[in-house]
Amino acid sequence: MTVVRTRFAPSPTGFIHLGNIRSALYPWAFAKAHDGVFILRVEDTDIDRSSQEAVDVILQGMKWLGMAPDEGPFYQMQRIKRYQEVLEQLKSSGAVYPCYMSIEELDALRERQTQNKQKPRYDGTWRPEEGKTLPPIPPGVQPVLRFKNPKDGFVSWTDKVKGLIEISNEELDDLVIARPDGTPTYNFCVVVDDIDMKITHVIRGDDHVNNTPRQINIFKALGHEHPTYAHLPTVLNEQGEKLSKRNGAKAVTAYEAEGYLPEAMINYLARLGWSHGDDEIFSVEQFLSWFDLDHLGKSAAQFDEAKLKWVNAQHLKALSGEELALRVQPFLTSLGVKADERLASMCHLLKDRCETLVALAKWVSVFYVKVEPHPEEWAKHVTDAAKPAIALLKERLAQVSSWDVSTIAQEIKDVLAQTGLKMPQLAMPVRVLLVGTAQTPSLDAVISLFSQKEVIERLSKA
Ligand code: GLU
Repeated sequence: MTVVRTRFAPSPTGFIHLGNIRSALYPWAFAKAHDGVFILRVEDTDIDRSSQEAVDVILQGMKWLGMAPDEGPFYQMQRIKRYQEVLEQLKSSGAVYPCYMSIEELDALRERQTQNKQKPRYDGTWRPEEGKTLPPIPPGVQPVLRFKNPKDGFVSWTDKVKGLIEISNEELDDLVIARPDGTPTYNFCVVVDDIDMKITHVIRGDDHVNNTPRQINIFKALGHEHPTYAHLPTVLNEQGEKLSKRNGAKAVTAYEAEGYLPEAMINYLARLGWSHGDDEIFSVEQFLSWFDLDHLGKSAAQFDEAKLKWVNAQHLKALSGEELALRVQPFLTSLGVKADERLASMCHLLKDRCETLVALAKWVSVFYVKVEPHPEEWAKHVTDAAKPAIALLKERLAQVSSWDVSTIAQEIKDVLAQTGLKMPQLAMPVRVLLVGTAQTPSLDAVISLFSQKEVIERLSKA
């Protein structure tokens, strides 16, 4: 059985965003689901627009998401020699020919065609044919190399997303595959790479669907079967435009910094164009065991940040306090908080109220950093009616010899019994004093996570 080999082939011309990384997720998942090989190929031949920073975002984003390639990264700029070699092969088989048409002539041709309401295309002036006399070669002109696209028949393939696609060769003109300086062009390099890297499945954005028939013809000319194709529908932003850096899409690494969990991001992205019944929340393992090309969506998916947050919150909740303690650590460090052995219990207590690790870190920090109660909350809750009860609670808590949730709960109960207050009348102001806000998890649990000394200190402010 042939081993499944897939690739992610980003161009490092801008910071990859969620739409781009989704084009990595599916080939990665497909390879993993079939014990195959996932390859990273950096398509950096556009030297003016490619940058190392963009490559770094690709590598960092993939590392964060746990999508390490099995092979690569390969860089197209390091494979130029190989492309030249294959060009020579095509030259000697007569599959390419030099074309001396100047830019001006091409422009004039295009203009004529547009005026005659024809599709602009190269007219084959320099294409050698039996019995045809080519124009005299203009002196001093370096030719481009054009691929001799078949004139008749059709190119067809069964796309895993779009179904049968059939294009008449009449629609395709002879593509330039090497520039006057000999550098190979995009569609040619892709085919050489896909052949050399033995790619079995090309899973990519549907902005490439127009390139596919041209690429298939090049495969044929090189004597190779083309891979299976799956062209993924676009990802739209919340305004319904194509997700792109130009209209505000963030680099994928920004989500790591915002405290999203990689497994939640994979879950969210997976659902953005693929489904497994009604399953909304699933683990990476489940995704990899379920993923197939038959359930890819056919219509454009729309990014929804609120949904992403919700998915993240579900994954966050499912993690243990110990695991969250590890994950939240870098965020605490950047807040200047040095946590201690209470951290796992804090994470466990607070995780239900947090959508991201950033939110969790902020919450945890209230235990370590002095808080300024919100003035409005203070005025509303720390009332004269509440102050005697707060003072009583402080006194009693100062005297307890064991610092645990049930002891603290008993003290709270006793204070309520003694003062005749209802739970919220005591709990709200105490929360405001301790953590700055009246909204917290259960009071006894919160108190137990502070040191006894710290609680007495904070309650003394009333
Ligand atoms: N480099 C292309 C891009 O970033 C992808 C080419 C391909 O997947 O075949 O859009």
